[in-house]
Amino acid sequence: MERESQLTEEEKLFFMQAAIAEAKKAEALAEVPIGAVIVYHGEIIGRGHNLREHSQDATSHAEMFAIREACQHLDSWRLEECQLFVTLEPCPMCSGGMILSRVEEVYFGAYDPKGGTAGTLMNLLTDERFNHRAYVEGGILEEECGMLLTNFFRAIRARKKKTSQNE
Ligand SMILES: [Zn+2]
Repeated sequence: MERESQLTEEEKLFFMQAAIAEAKKAEALAEVPIGAVIVYHGEIIGRGHNLREHSQDATSHAEMFAIREACQHLDSWRLEECQLFVTLEPCPMCSGGMILSRVEEVYFGAYDPKGGTAGTLMNLLTDERFNHRAYVEGGILEEECGMLLTNFFRAIRARKKKTSQNE
């Protein structure tokens, strides 16, 4: 069965802005700015931002926090009827988490040519061999989501350059 988006264009932009707000929380902590939210019947029930450096845990991705919070909120491991928004195309781990939690719709901002598994390298979320498939839509506020990352890494490179010049 081919899935269809249950949201209007305005709703997609609104919730991606909320994911961007989460990404900015990561940025404020000097973490790679990636943020995610999960929506259930028009309400945000899960939020998360990347915390890999602070936690020194490779699994501390924005989506994983959002999935955990949403499951706690619904008191269920099933996130059916939920939409997940994330600023960067999900990796294999997070795509796996979305399949396992049965998220219904996934919206992402920027494409990830080096790790994206929601359409770029492969699409785990629509693979018919899994028992769950999600509706997937990429490129929501793509430029804004991508610029967050570009500016972040540019600033790091500039800082490194400055430090090496001072040595
Ligand atoms: Zn991930």
